[in-house]
Amino acid sequence: MTIAEERAAAAAHGPTTAYTGINDRTQLNPIFARPGESTDLPVDRIPDNESLPETAYQIVHDESMLDGNARLNLATFVGTWMDDHAARLYAESADKNMIDKDEYPQTAAIETRCWKIVAGLWNAPDPEKAIGTSTVGSSEACMLGGLALKRRWQLARKAEGKPTDKPNLVLSSAVQVCWEKFCNYWDVEPRYVPITDEHKVLDGHELEKYVDENTIGVVAIMGVTYTGMYEPVAEISKALDRIQEQTGLDVKIHVDGASGGMIAPFLQPDLEWDFRVPRVVSISTSAHKYGLVYPGLGWVVWRTAGDLPADLVFDVTYLGGHMPTFALNFSRPGAQVLLQYYLFLRLGFDGYYRVQKASQDVALYLSGEIAKMPAFELWNDGSDIPVFAWQLKKGHTDKWNLYHLSERLRLKGWLIPAYPMPDDLTDLTVQRIVVRNGLSHNLAESLVVDIQEAVEYLDALESPMPTEGQVHSFTH
Ligand SMILES: *Cc1c(COP(=O)(O)O)cnc(C)c1O
Repeated sequence: MTIAEERAAAAAHGPTTAYTGINDRTQLNPIFARPGESTDLPVDRIPDNESLPETAYQIVHDESMLDGNARLNLATFVGTWMDDHAARLYAESADKNMIDKDEYPQTAAIETRCWKIVAGLWNAPDPEKAIGTSTVGSSEACMLGGLALKRRWQLARKAEGKPTDKPNLVLSSAVQVCWEKFCNYWDVEPRYVPITDEHKVLDGHELEKYVDENTIGVVAIMGVTYTGMYEPVAEISKALDRIQEQTGLDVKIHVDGASGGMIAPFLQPDLEWDFRVPRVVSISTSAHKYGLVYPGLGWVVWRTAGDLPADLVFDVTYLGGHMPTFALNFSRPGAQVLLQYYLFLRLGFDGYYRVQKASQDVALYLSGEIAKMPAFELWNDGSDIPVFAWQLKKGHTDKWNLYHLSERLRLKGWLIPAYPMPDDLTDLTVQRIVVRNGLSHNLAESLVVDIQEAVEYLDALESPMPTEGQVHSFTH
């Protein structure tokens, strides 16, 4: 396979940013060549012979250089920077397997300390009575939260002699793709509540139309991926209170706090979205988003051990050890857990507050500048999580759209995606910026200038930009 073919194959599977090379071999620039060193390696099958470590290193290093610049990637929520001490700790602990609790009892103890700290940040009534675990990220954490809801519903239905073959889950149409996976993989019917101009997020409106005796739970998102807005967990809970009064159904909430779970405790401490809302039984977050750890680490916590059905917990005996586990994976890296603990110690509550506040300040600055530009209209301003989206003002232009702006900005290195909103707003295209630790005020000012210049260029066109080949997709 040539690199061109490799790219064509990837493109056949949908949008890709795969790099195209010029050759069917992976080669080193001559500057690195030394006598006797073969630098001509195939790309899609294992090479016949060994290479020098320096050669292999340089090839992988050089190829990965062609990825986008992480610091200018305003599309991702995932952390791209940690300090030197974290890097040292990472290198020292890269060999630790999280599942080997017997061999690495201290890492296991630190994992427990971490989820208890997280349970405390989320106002669990008694973190000692809560139960939690680390995961590889929010996707796994959401799967576990969803599975616990499903099992709990099944057990209750069985106890009443009722059928358990039609479970459903109620969620916003703007959920992250991991919930679609959960419903697909575990045979749960997703009941999507569409977002509209009046109800920009799941807010409890008409919830009674979606909830019935087969509902295993409702998902509330703290930081909708599309826009960064919080869903009002307390409002959703009140709607479920009313449903319980009328029907007797006691439906619980899982909060998907992938990003907000590590923002709200610091920036919006008075907002009641967590275990202060009695209906919330479990909460998940991505430690590698605003938890500030490298990928992949997540946390999931249940209010009390009783909220996690005991028959989901495995007691694994492994190499003489004995441990309860609730996870989809067996082996996985343990280093990130140590990195999370390092950050808790290093930053403390105050440090986390200051880091998150700095991101929010930059988000508010950027959304303020974009709101001033006549071409745009804000969808939200980044005052929930430091993420905001905007749309093209109706009637501003028929020459270009936000995909063109995204392309123009990419010329400057900025990765700022445009995408359609989910149901019922699929006709609406928005563009979104995720402000993370590391996007400084200076960089943000440069970005504002780059956006202004791109808009001036596009507005000055005499005829419309072509729209062929524009990729309208979004899976973040
Ligand atoms: C990112 C995200 C997820 C998935 O998290 P990963 O850590 O990437 O697996 C789930 N839900 C929401 C709301 C997210 O933003």
